[in-house]
Amino acid sequence: MKKFFLIILFAVFVFPQKPYVVMVSFDGFRWDYPNRGVTPNFDKLDSAGVHSLSLRPSFPSKTFPNHYSIITGMYPENHGIISNDFTNPLTGEYYSLGKREAVHNDKWYRGEAFWETLKKNGIKSASFFWPGSEVDNPNRRPDYFKYYDETVPYKSRIDTVFKWLQLPIEKRPNFATLYFEETDDTGHWCGPDSYEMFKSINKMDSVLGYILHKIKTSNLADSINLIVLSDHGMTGVSFEKSVNIEKYIEGFNAGITGDGPVMLIDVPEKEKEFVYRTLKQNESNFRVYKKEDLPDYYHYKKNIVIPEIIVIAEPGWSLINNKIKNYEGLRIKGDHGFDNNFIDMHGIFYAAGPLFKTNYKTGTLRNIDIYPLLCKIFKVNPAENIDGNTENIEFILK
Ligand code: AMP
Ligand code: ZN
Ligand code: ZN
Repeated sequence: MKKFFLIILFAVFVFPQKPYVVMVSFDGFRWDYPNRGVTPNFDKLDSAGVHSLSLRPSFPSKTFPNHYSIITGMYPENHGIISNDFTNPLTGEYYSLGKREAVHNDKWYRGEAFWETLKKNGIKSASFFWPGSEVDNPNRRPDYFKYYDETVPYKSRIDTVFKWLQLPIEKRPNFATLYFEETDDTGHWCGPDSYEMFKSINKMDSVLGYILHKIKTSNLADSINLIVLSDHGMTGVSFEKSVNIEKYIEGFNAGITGDGPVMLIDVPEKEKEFVYRTLKQNESNFRVYKKEDLPDYYHYKKNIVIPEIIVIAEPGWSLINNKIKNYEGLRIKGDHGFDNNFIDMHGIFYAAGPLFKTNYKTGTLRNIDIYPLLCKIFKVNPAENIDGNTENIEFILK
């Protein structure tokens, strides 16, 4: 008997049990969607674990910059994915979430994604979608991953993750991500206050219900820690509240990237002052900044790929160019990307499982603090030079 206990003791010290974390992202799920009375499963999570008032995204409040901030603990200016689309002025190369070769090329992604940190510590990870998870370099992606394909049914994404979690222990991932685009799509096309949005929120609540069911019926039910979050929120926009920025600067040699809440304007040095002044004189329902004058809280200066002039629409307004002007009928009804302090841009954060406090409400959390939280959970050293800080978030742990 004594020998048996010694063996158990030896096993616990030599092979300490590693935690399990499943992190789920519902794209564009605004902080207040769970207050609409159509989310019984989110309500369950609220009492079962931690629920923050909101999750503040990093600037710009767009999908790729923020998913990569969550997984690296860095502001976009430091991890390099400064927007969904941008050009490197030194090489002329273009990054876009729709350009597969760019999305797969790890040279764009700076910092260290959490799956890389785990890999360095001999811990396996998996991802059924997450921006940055499908790079060609095998050292910089999760052990199990999928190429983004929005036609994959939500149920099969979830079933696959739980199959990975049933693998023999030496092959099994301890960290897995899931991603669902539904609420972002509906928010853009129908608007955050539409009937269709209520239906989408309710549909995603059922998806959460299925995840909770899979956890409950798995043999890791008591070990899985579930984090449910979103990358940003959504606000109503309309063509009537749009400003054509291109018409102001037609005479200049300026290159415009993006439309909607933020426009990045690349100008030759000798024209910078003129372009800036021209936009400044017409500043109405938008703000124009020289890169160096951007408010510090945007953390959007320290990168060569951020152009010299940045135009940011006031909440609810859209920046358009001459091309869009000719397609008035095609306008979207919701958008995001605005000032990350604007409350409509905030997302959700829930966490439940053996490591998290129960029925615990906290104020707004910052998405850059999630990476250091994950490092603390797995007892691994965070990468150097991250922007997040464990102290801002570790109080949600038991
Ligand atoms: P946006 O609303 O422009 O910030 O981006 C949201 C869009 O990003 C969604 O419609 C998704 O289809 C798309 N998306 C999400 N993850 C990926 C990915 N890994 N690769 C390519 N596109 C993605
Ligand atoms: Zn998004
Ligand atoms: Zn979106």
